[in-house]
Amino acid sequence: MSGSERLARTREALGASGLDALLVAPSPDLSYLAGYDPPPLERLTLLVVRPEADPVLVVPELERPLAQASPAGSLFEIRSWRDAEDPYAIVAGMLGGAHRAAITDRAWASHALRITRAAPYAELVPTSDAIPLLRAVKDDREIDDLARAGLGADQAFAEIVGEPFAGRTERDIATDLARLLREHGHTQINFTIVGSGPNAASPHHDPTDRTIRVSEPVVMDFGGRIDTGYCSDVTRTVVVGDVHAEVSEVHEVVRTAQQAAFEAIRPGVTAEEVDRAAREVIEAAGYGERFVHRTGHGIGLEEHEPPFIVAGNRDLLATGMVFSIEPGIYLEGRFGVRIEDIVVVTEDGARRLNDAPREPVVVR
Ligand code: ZN
Ligand code: ZN
Ligand code: ZN
Repeated sequence: MSGSERLARTREALGASGLDALLVAPSPDLSYLAGYDPPPLERLTLLVVRPEADPVLVVPELERPLAQASPAGSLFEIRSWRDAEDPYAIVAGMLGGAHRAAITDRAWASHALRITRAAPYAELVPTSDAIPLLRAVKDDREIDDLARAGLGADQAFAEIVGEPFAGRTERDIATDLARLLREHGHTQINFTIVGSGPNAASPHHDPTDRTIRVSEPVVMDFGGRIDTGYCSDVTRTVVVGDVHAEVSEVHEVVRTAQQAAFEAIRPGVTAEEVDRAAREVIEAAGYGERFVHRTGHGIGLEEHEPPFIVAGNRDLLATGMVFSIEPGIYLEGRFGVRIEDIVVVTEDGARRLNDAPREPVVVR
């Protein structure tokens, strides 16, 4: 999809949700709409999109050449401001008569608060509340990029399971995962969660110097970005040496739940139905209270973005949406299991962008 198509769809979405403006600060939203990705700093950079007026990119004077040279230069009028000027007054001028405007979730609070002070008549709401599905449907090029990122993560998994685990630390494994992600097409590492034994029961565990022992399950949840900015995110739970009966039982419940979620996906079903499909399996097995998080999240230029696969979310899934399905069971103080794949909604179901084995892989 070209930049001007994205802009046209955004303006349509603004009109449909009764918003008078969309204020886009440096963030994945700005990369998506403008192909411009300056560092978010204290000087205001803001793309102002309105349903009926031409979009304007407000930039600090010293970054005008940068903005002009980016794809934004040919898409938008650029209004630069000098350090002695008040950029919030410039934005307020464009918001004259506005009642409600959405602002990028990742905008600095200082910018949002100063815009509110300069234009108190315009209520600011987070973009993810007002137009959550702005970037949710991916085009073919985006899906190819997400598939490439997913393949790189699968390749990293295929290699890590050939390495020894017993006697090494979580941090050792995390360091190797980061290296393997880079070797397989990633230019940035977002996270490398490695939780062994009781630490596997902490879903967002930060790897420690704990030594991994035989017969423990190890949850590895890792991902990063490839050169175009698109993200990977995969989780597998492996076991060291031999598999205890309880670990294998819990693993099977999670694998069945993940498959049930996968099979529930098709265009027109709600996000919460997919969550329900996974949760029912885990509840039926008696672990409902131990599945402590939503089933998944969208992924694209951000590692977590709408649509969120969670109870209460009635957003309808559509062909081209990409999100994770990642049920887990966490037994505090003992162990945990999570299995996560990225999937894309197709015309008649879904396709996985991760295909590393979902059975419990035994490592040494
Ligand atoms: Zn997470
Ligand atoms: Zn993950
Ligand atoms: Zn995830």
